[in-house]
Amino acid sequence: MIKNQLTCEDVQKDIPDFINDKLDSRDTLAFISHIRECKTCMEELSVEYLVLVGVKRLDSASAFNLNDELEDLMIRNEYRAIRKRNLTRIVFVFAIGLAILGGYLLSGMLYG
Ligand SMILES: [Zn+2]
Repeated sequence: MIKNQLTCEDVQKDIPDFINDKLDSRDTLAFISHIRECKTCMEELSVEYLVLVGVKRLDSASAFNLNDELEDLMIRNEYRAIRKRNLTRIVFVFAIGLAILGGYLLSGMLYG
């Protein structure tokens, strides 16, 4: 089974974790890419977000901007997950570069 292809059931189960920022980078990206394609899950996310976050501030006017905030939350989490993934890749490439350079210098010392 391909990990990135979440079912609607998987996604809706992850909604509270997403809102509470408990998904790892890979799950966050899979979650968001599903949400962007799937109207049903997007609506479910909106409702749960309104319930979880909205009830905490029914007394304030900011409750009316929750849909914008949800969009912000998605963009922020997506950006962070992508950046984290790219950073891992950069570190990996850097480590390989160092290993090659180290090997080159070492062979220069041994045979040069
Ligand atoms: Zn779905």
